[in-house]
Amino acid sequence: MAKTPASTITQFEISDRVTQQAAMRPYRRDPREPLVRPLRVFTLDPSVSDRLGGFATVNVPYEKLQSGPIGALFDVRCDRAPSPLTTGPLDLDDPLLLLSSGLTPSPSNGQVHLQMVYAVCSLTYAAFKRALGRDIAWATAPPASGPHRLVVRPFGFRGRNAGYSREGGDLSFGYFNAGANPAGFTVQKGLICTSLSHDVIAHETTHALLDGLRESFLMPTNVDVAAFHEGFADLVALFLHFTYADVVERAIREAHVNSTGLSLLTDLAREFGYTRTRAVPGKETALRSGIDVAGIAAFDSDILPGAKGGPVCYDPELDPHLLGSVLVSAVFEAFMTVVRRKTDRYFRIAGIEPQSFGTAPLSEPLVKALAGEASDVASQFLSICIRAIDYCPPADMELGEYLRALITADGDLERSDKWGFREALMRSFRRRRIFPDHVQFMTEDAVRWRSPEKQVRIPGLAFRNLRFDGDPGRPSNTKELTRQATALGRALTDPAHAKVFQLVAPGAKLL
Ligand SMILES: [Zn+2]
Repeated sequence: MAKTPASTITQFEISDRVTQQAAMRPYRRDPREPLVRPLRVFTLDPSVSDRLGGFATVNVPYEKLQSGPIGALFDVRCDRAPSPLTTGPLDLDDPLLLLSSGLTPSPSNGQVHLQMVYAVCSLTYAAFKRALGRDIAWATAPPASGPHRLVVRPFGFRGRNAGYSREGGDLSFGYFNAGANPAGFTVQKGLICTSLSHDVIAHETTHALLDGLRESFLMPTNVDVAAFHEGFADLVALFLHFTYADVVERAIREAHVNSTGLSLLTDLAREFGYTRTRAVPGKETALRSGIDVAGIAAFDSDILPGAKGGPVCYDPELDPHLLGSVLVSAVFEAFMTVVRRKTDRYFRIAGIEPQSFGTAPLSEPLVKALAGEASDVASQFLSICIRAIDYCPPADMELGEYLRALITADGDLERSDKWGFREALMRSFRRRRIFPDHVQFMTEDAVRWRSPEKQVRIPGLAFRNLRFDGDPGRPSNTKELTRQATALGRALTDPAHAKVFQLVAPGAKLL
């Protein structure tokens, strides 16, 4: 038998997922069409009064819609609705709805549920697209022909939960009857629908998007993997909240009236978190607080874990949801630190000691300035958190690796760290004992990924050789995607580069 030349041994395989990107058909907006479609949504869920910003008008990226709504990315289904929510598909392109920012939020109107999931799913997708600069392909099986959409079932099943299923190809939201003493404005034994909870929708959509970016993160190879999926999904939901400036504005006005002297953002986080927890007694996985509010540090504090007032720390024995909440609290604390650094000057200009927030009256321009700043920083954190996924290992994720990814991703984009985003992240992760492996110092240069010692050039992936479909974020077709993957596979498995990538040839002797 002839010996197979080494060069023809298959040393890598190309996943079917590589070509799946081409099945995505993002909407191509005609320049004459509007940029956004304003839609009214519940900013938390219907149990919250307007006091905390119960409704908001959000700007969903514009696309032409079919009745459903069915757009380029999501296919919202109206079937299985329980009485009295039974409804047909919703036509958001109806001129009357276009003129009135969609339907007025009301839990008793089945069509509002369709609008709510469409709006929040689209906003979550838009946050990912903005952060990564490209379209994200779903991990679900694509249809035989036509665009690859994710099915969304606002009336998925009876139950106190919601879920994303790669096999089922859908996001499914449960509904159930409240207990005898429900929270907020919920009616006794009334119907509670997870499809009206902003955070549940954003959380589940994030699971689907993260699965599209890192499919092996659904494989629990260590305790951190599941914790990361949960914590990351909560982070996206939380920061998306803070990006709605008018919601934050209303909450600041309220905090001023009701504050007990705690800091502004902890108050907000507490309100958001408690509302979510209270809405469903029994701590179900769906509506739950993601923040260890009590453990969030005072401004630039260095209280050590274990000490009085210290945070809940990393512990591999924790349940994945709790472990995920340690991650959420770490990132949220860094967010608060940066917001405080940036808003300090507004208080000083207004002649108010920042610590006296809640006791001193705040002028309207000050409220607006504080809310605007908090929303801007939230948008930046949202983008940093999402962009870091591109810097995460493909499998076997650890929470410490996420810190490394955050620091590297942000450092690549923002050379100077004027407001100390990265320093705040390292500090709050350290306070919770989350460290990347093999790191001796919690400093930026020690934490960030290092480039390989030897530079590797892959001519097939040089920018001038890439083929796009108009936009550099959009590859031209499946052939081009396969060509790019093959070029990468060849370069990685080339014996000349094996050492750089720390790979070993099949059959090679290990020393
Ligand atoms: Zn989840």
